[in-house]
Amino acid sequence: MVAQVIDGKAFAAKVRAQVADQVAKLKEQSGITPGLAVVLVGEDPASQVYVRSKGKQTVEVGMNSYEHKLEVDTSQADLLALIDQLNADPAVHGILVQLPLPKHLNEDLVINAIDPAKDVDGFHISNVGLLGTGQKSMVPCTPLGCLMMLRDHHGSLSGMDAVVIGRSNIVGKPMAQLLLGDSCTVTIAHSRTKDLPDVVRRADIVVAAVGRAEMVPGAWIKPGATVIDVGINRIDAPEKGTNEDGSVKTRLVGDVDYASAAQTAGAITPVPGGVGPMTIACLLANTLTACCRANKLPEPKGLTA
Ligand code: NDP
Repeated sequence: MVAQVIDGKAFAAKVRAQVADQVAKLKEQSGITPGLAVVLVGEDPASQVYVRSKGKQTVEVGMNSYEHKLEVDTSQADLLALIDQLNADPAVHGILVQLPLPKHLNEDLVINAIDPAKDVDGFHISNVGLLGTGQKSMVPCTPLGCLMMLRDHHGSLSGMDAVVIGRSNIVGKPMAQLLLGDSCTVTIAHSRTKDLPDVVRRADIVVAAVGRAEMVPGAWIKPGATVIDVGINRIDAPEKGTNEDGSVKTRLVGDVDYASAAQTAGAITPVPGGVGPMTIACLLANTLTACCRANKLPEPKGLTA
């Protein structure tokens, strides 16, 4: 069997188009423009790229983008003061603090200072609790993107055996909650799981969120299973030659060995071009949802969990 490729890039473009369409209607009918504020502390190059990309896509779907770039030595008090100001600003419907923060800042404290209704990353303790108890919440973007792709591919997920490899607060745990919410039988695997190959082999749905390049081989995948590869790992690619400074060129791979898994799985997301593009698309969807909720308007259909 050769797996169907779940094209996250195309799916994300569809989600962005849906968001743009609803934003245009919202502006026309109520005069409201959703606004997303992104806070970046310091000059981490990867974070700068993400923030630029988020800002660009926010504007492209017709929303307002507010970027706050703070010095690397910004104090906790100053950062919290900015968050208070954004919490109180009616033009801001979503607030995202780009992680990781410099070491002298307390991430939990900062995230929990965001108004939960504006917490478009879904990391605030209130949103974690609401998701865990099956109540309406802001859902973390990466797992939401995975869920959207799974629902699109399967329709109903009810009764399916799902294994999530990884138990982080930003991917593994919320992913498991979402799959449970869609009535899957969910196993969460992690570094202490005994006989991981056997656990994975039982699954109709495998979500890999580990951060270890190509650790899941095709031999672990049940024939016909759907594989969602969240991992983003950069590895040396000597076949691509060397850079100007003599270093070996690199390429991105997932946590799943794509070549062998694609021979066994029924469907699989590639890396790059799978889960990655869905994450920002879901951030935009969450901002629109937050805006609708703040203004007591009907929520956009198909863009929430
Ligand atoms: P974390 O490092 O926070 O968590 C990794 C998890 O993998 C942990 O729960 C860990 O278990 C588990 N793990 C580590 N080694 C093994 C092993 N040998 N067998 C089984 N489980 C193992 O990572 P994140 O959740 O933040 O991210 C995971 C991956 O997803 C990364 O590659 C990251 O870059 C990517 N990512 C991609 C995003 C996207 O937009 N596409 C967004 C976010 C993340 P334990 O808890 O026992 O230590």
